[in-house]
Amino acid sequence: MATEPLNTAEPVAAPRRPVLQSLDDALATLLAAVSATCAAQSETVSTFDALGCVLAEDVCSLLDVPPADNTSMDGYAMRAADVPVVGTVLPVSQRIPAGVVGQPLQPGTAVRIFTGAQVPPGADVVVMQEQCEAVAGDGLGAVRVNLVPPAGQWIRRRGEDVQRGAVVLAAGTRLTPAALGLAASVGAATLKVARRPRVAVFSTGDELVMPGEVLPEQMRPGAIYNSNRYTLRGLVQAMGCEVQDLGIVPDRLDATRAALRAAAARCDLIITSGGVSMGEEDHLRPAVQAEGRLDLWQIAMKPGKPLAFGAVRREDGSEAWFMGLPGNPVSSFVTFLLTVRPVLLRLQGAHAESWALRSYPLRAAFDWPKPDRRREFVRARVNAEGAVELFPNQSSGVLTSAVWADGLVDIAAGQVITRGEVVRFVPLSELG
Ligand code: AMP
Ligand code: MG
Repeated sequence: MATEPLNTAEPVAAPRRPVLQSLDDALATLLAAVSATCAAQSETVSTFDALGCVLAEDVCSLLDVPPADNTSMDGYAMRAADVPVVGTVLPVSQRIPAGVVGQPLQPGTAVRIFTGAQVPPGADVVVMQEQCEAVAGDGLGAVRVNLVPPAGQWIRRRGEDVQRGAVVLAAGTRLTPAALGLAASVGAATLKVARRPRVAVFSTGDELVMPGEVLPEQMRPGAIYNSNRYTLRGLVQAMGCEVQDLGIVPDRLDATRAALRAAAARCDLIITSGGVSMGEEDHLRPAVQAEGRLDLWQIAMKPGKPLAFGAVRREDGSEAWFMGLPGNPVSSFVTFLLTVRPVLLRLQGAHAESWALRSYPLRAAFDWPKPDRRREFVRARVNAEGAVELFPNQSSGVLTSAVWADGLVDIAAGQVITRGEVVRFVPLSELG
């Protein structure tokens, strides 16, 4: 992996004085350091298996979609000119279900037609069956048309969705379920995508125990369940990446170094939670410094002030990226969304808009009289009136808030907010 040195000093055990920097500056540094290495190692996968992957080449259409004019309603196809007045009766000359190609329309007749069927040559309008009455008679009978139809109505035009030769999905697009459907609609059974990043996750903290291993009533004093392991694992999987879960790494230097080496050998990125707060006695910092290089940042955001970024050397001299997230569950959740997610998208060659933080103006249903000196991302929800409400407890240990929330309000440093003012709302769905 070609990288710029993050810090020029030789690794030392003593922490360097952290620099408080803005989230935007930190992101710019991260995204400049990391390149699209996984996109460079693209692979061809079944369209069925490509959910969450990032396209490594454009998907072009070799056909028009729809391939021919077809009806979007069950009803009758006809010539608009044959229905000059409400109540005109036309004999029904043929019946065309979807998948059947009919004969050209005989002028002065109507064709019984069903949704998705190709509109026969000569017909220029479809009247939905709710606006017609079948009239008994010879053969297919006749139909009374209870309106004067505007030409073109209920006809989906050839190529109205996609034109032959068009790029329907550009390289760098992250594949959603709808994108997979669009690829399939132009016949793409396989897609060339960036290799899924391999991401190692481990938790630090001797207070951590695993659900299932220790029953709640058996918890020793001071112990807590390791929730970050589940949240971070889920976040990594939801990003279309492969997780290498290294579990809880004991708070010992040798164990931490060994875990980093093992993780670097098979992963593109190592994510850890906990042990990056300042002044803390932890082994992560010296371990990463001994195995590679590390910058520990204090980011001017809340939650999630501490963030470590660096790289761990592999035996062959290449490197795996390292990102150390704070231990507080809400902090690690928010920091992942705001900093790790863009890095993962960058590794996969996703286009820049996909990692930009998208927010929408909405009215505040709350007062924010005492802003912090740091930019805050508070857990929020849109109420039935379309205004933004806050979870009452914004502590970074309260994971309930992250489940309750459907978004984050992005509050600038020092920004006082009065109920009714417009705030910036970042939907969590935009960060998936
Ligand atoms: P740290 O960043 O290690 O100082 O941890 C900050 C807070 O987060 C402490 O209260 C830890 O107990 C808690 N914490 C750290 N790691 C985890 C984890 N994996 N799951 C849940 N809470 C954690
Ligand atoms: Mg800790």
